[in-house]
Amino acid sequence: MSASIITIPARSGKAAYAEAGQRIKVINTHGQQVVDTWAFRRDNLKEFMSMEHSRPNFMRIRPRVGESFFSNQRRPILTVEEDTSGGVHDTLMAACDNPRYGLLGCTEYHDNCTDNLSAGMKELGLEEPETPSPLNLFMNIPWTPDGELSWEEPVSTPGSYILLKAEMDLVIAFSACPQDILPINGRVGKPTEAHFQILD
Ligand SMILES: [Zn+2]
Repeated sequence: MSASIITIPARSGKAAYAEAGQRIKVINTHGQQVVDTWAFRRDNLKEFMSMEHSRPNFMRIRPRVGESFFSNQRRPILTVEEDTSGGVHDTLMAACDNPRYGLLGCTEYHDNCTDNLSAGMKELGLEEPETPSPLNLFMNIPWTPDGELSWEEPVSTPGSYILLKAEMDLVIAFSACPQDILPINGRVGKPTEAHFQILD
């Protein structure tokens, strides 16, 4: 398999097509970069991967290898086939957006995952119907028994990856999260690029 490696530039978005049965390998190239991930049904973008429809399927806050994310129509859409990153991903947090950075004290426009999704889709001539709550790959949001959450650095290492099988023909989209105020991308202030491959 020698599928080309596609770059998700630092602080930016990228989208691509994947056919049912293909695998999407998302690589945390530099080790501590959160990658917001979306999947839309190719022939009906209004059906998309939904975190709130996935958690009742795997009955966990995040899935293990062999478990599937579901669409908002309750169909399997992506299945986790391998994960060398430590298995720490977030399904709880909305994509960052410009108002979020306003709440964090920014007074000027800040790159954000919501706009990165739009930009990636636009490169394919597409427009997302909304911003679904993303699968935040490599994002470390631990929880306590009494329900508290916190923003922590990723546990993934350089070159680690997750392999996701497409369960239907898809448009997949990614954002290398530009969050540089909270420590979710490790080295604060240094969001990096990441990469993905579409494998037969
Ligand atoms: Zn983000």
